[in-house]
Amino acid sequence: MKYHIEDITGIVKGKLVQQHDNAFIEHLLIDSRKMIFPDTSLFFAMKGPRRDGHVFLPALYEKGVRNFVVSEDTDASKLSQANIIQVKDVLQALQLLAAHHRKQYSLPVIGITGSNGKTIVKEWLNQLLDDQYSIIRSPRSYNSQIGVPLSVWPMNDTHELGIFEAGISQSGEMDRLQKIIQPSIGVFTNIGEAHSEGFLNRRQKVNEKLRLFTHVKTLVYCKDAPEINEGVAALWQQFNKGGQGSFEIFNWSTVTEATLQVLTVYKEEGTTLITALYKEQTIAIKIPFTDDASVENAIHCWCVLLHLGVAAKAIAKKMLQLGPVAMRLELKKGMNNCSIINDSYSADLSSFNIALDFLAQQSQHDRKTVILSDILQSGRNEKELYKEVAQALAQRGIARLIGIGEKMIQHQAVFRLSPIPELVFYPSVESFIHDFHHLSFRDETILLKGARVFELEQIDRLLEQKVHQTVLEIDLNALGHNLRQYQQLLQPTTKLMAMVKAFSYGSGSYEIANALQFHKVDYLAVAYADEGVELRRGGINLPIMVMNADPSTFDVLVQYNLEPDLYSPALLRSFEAFLKRQGIRQFPVHIELETGMNRLGFSPEELDTVLEVLKGDLFIVKSVYSHLAASEDPQHDAYTRRQASIFHGMVEKLQQVITYPFLRHISNTAGIARHPDLQLDMVRLGIGLYGIDSANTHRLELKEVSTLIATIAQIKHLKAGDTVSYGRRGVVERDTLVATVRIGYADGYPRNLSNGVGKMWVNGKLAPVIGTVCMDMVMIDITGIPHVQEGDDVILFGKELPVGQVAHWAQTIPYEMLTGISQRVKRVYFEE
Ligand SMILES: *Cc1c(COP(=O)(O)O)cnc(C)c1O
Repeated sequence: MKYHIEDITGIVKGKLVQQHDNAFIEHLLIDSRKMIFPDTSLFFAMKGPRRDGHVFLPALYEKGVRNFVVSEDTDASKLSQANIIQVKDVLQALQLLAAHHRKQYSLPVIGITGSNGKTIVKEWLNQLLDDQYSIIRSPRSYNSQIGVPLSVWPMNDTHELGIFEAGISQSGEMDRLQKIIQPSIGVFTNIGEAHSEGFLNRRQKVNEKLRLFTHVKTLVYCKDAPEINEGVAALWQQFNKGGQGSFEIFNWSTVTEATLQVLTVYKEEGTTLITALYKEQTIAIKIPFTDDASVENAIHCWCVLLHLGVAAKAIAKKMLQLGPVAMRLELKKGMNNCSIINDSYSADLSSFNIALDFLAQQSQHDRKTVILSDILQSGRNEKELYKEVAQALAQRGIARLIGIGEKMIQHQAVFRLSPIPELVFYPSVESFIHDFHHLSFRDETILLKGARVFELEQIDRLLEQKVHQTVLEIDLNALGHNLRQYQQLLQPTTKLMAMVKAFSYGSGSYEIANALQFHKVDYLAVAYADEGVELRRGGINLPIMVMNADPSTFDVLVQYNLEPDLYSPALLRSFEAFLKRQGIRQFPVHIELETGMNRLGFSPEELDTVLEVLKGDLFIVKSVYSHLAASEDPQHDAYTRRQASIFHGMVEKLQQVITYPFLRHISNTAGIARHPDLQLDMVRLGIGLYGIDSANTHRLELKEVSTLIATIAQIKHLKAGDTVSYGRRGVVERDTLVATVRIGYADGYPRNLSNGVGKMWVNGKLAPVIGTVCMDMVMIDITGIPHVQEGDDVILFGKELPVGQVAHWAQTIPYEMLTGISQRVKRVYFEE
């Protein structure tokens, strides 16, 4: 909707002190630096403690802005073609305009307030509802006296639902926000310590916040905070008496009867299962978070969705897919193997505690550092406040505190008395940055917590991982697609074991296993116990076979419920002894049989030993298997058939002793594609998952999963006779354009791709390697390839240039190419 300048003058109760024309206004401008549309913008000359917007009028006029709202007498002679509206209070004018605009629409609007969690509840509601509604919502944490009007302004008649948050720091402010948001559904998240200075006490703060809900039809809140519960009751009464009709209450509680009565909250391996009673039925959701704040936020969202009539089943499905809200607590990788939590948005005690909880939950590093600015919370004895902070830090076992700000320095004695081992203080972010190189950050989790004014994000940028710009992109959709391709070749009853050994053929560990678990494969297999441990730690609960178990890992196998592959009499005996000592019985194992690969497995002669041990009840044999040596090659089909027949003979012998059913399997990727009769009870799918048709059948439509991408560091013009790289092997024969690419043999780019053997995909063309491959860099000849610039991406393999082709050039196989990509190459997973 557009507004005429004359209409706006009326709406904001101003006076058009100078009129040039009757312009149309589309954009509201507060910050002169953010001006994009001069013609259709209306600039509000806001007066803040530091800045007076009136100062910017001439500069904006110069850039073409012609419409202004001012509160000061303005020298109009320099703004001769402008429309100038004069008002008493520019902020109020902005708010009146936004409120008027909001009134033009009758869509349902969710208004959220409370001390913590507003943004997350808002973002989660958006995540949960955006497939059902066209939603307008506050950007980031725009919840202030200025942020709310700007949030509401883009509302138009395509929107079906509004979600806005409101934050206040003084009494009187909420009435103004109520008029702008006009919520029909209210959500009161909680009441904490934040911004206490503007209020007499918690009760007053609750009552003030509740003013957002004076005209709602439904109010969602948690009954368990007495101040909120009583405040809501009073509000309800007020409207009941006032004759305007009261609102519907939708509350929840963990201790007593409520609209949604939470029965259990059960945390396990990265998820929380919440069950509740609603309309006399037990319903449940599971969320991929375990901290208390997330649980509370999710329950608020749950209430709203139930109120909106979303089916319990649909809610459960969506809740499991909730993603973290980056603008608050985001966890990311930092330099030197650090993890960083950046929460530099506020610095009150309760949000500090929430952030500390989140930090404490991180298990990837033992060592934890907190970088903390002054706490901005007046109305409290400062010494007491910092004592509490020190206590909270000590309680969570923080190894190092880096304090930033005058107050931190002033109160450092309380920290020095606490058991926090390492303490450093700086008066400002600048002094910290100056000293940055003396503070070593390595293998630790770092929480950055501070008020916005401190701009800790400068530190965040320093700590962030210096991305080695070479990445291996993993397409999880392609992985799922390839899995389905092979599944189509299987009998409906045949099970599938996915091979995720060697870091899932180089493409990642629990990230890949997680996707496979999602796609419901039956089994996973890894080569070594520690790979299995990593999967368990990453939350994988599928059964996992470990192909290369050895006695030093027996206790780990048991602890993490990993199923060893027993392949020799010695291993069998020692595992038997281990289980006896531990008093463990019926432990799941797999038996590998030697049929012709001559790698691991019991030979036919050793079978009697196996049979003897298996008679007891120490083991449960889950499966019996063998490995084919040449399933991909028609030349060796007779050998393959002989392997199969030896296998069947040995299995028969085993079945005479093992009377319960176990799975028989022998086929790998190529076996699945070429020997349908060898599917048996299960198959072991490896390289095919990653997009390689190892049997060369050309019948499968596989997709490349991994794309290796590097960037161009420099481009040089060389003349005939110049040489490139070590040993001067790359001799330039004509004027040549050479690009230096950020990858080398240390990243897994084979050195025998030197001197034209290897080629890279640049801007749709193949560019040959020139000279020898260096440790961290390679030069390529890009002569004649148009529009190549420094910084451009180069594809080393991927959809455009299959890894099989590059492996062929390097005289190796895709298996070695993929698993050889070094761990310093960052893996990035994506899914459409
Ligand atoms: C690696 C491996 C597989 C998978 O082989 P692909 O050719 O990648 O399908 C199957 N079985 C065993 C025992 C393996 O070691």
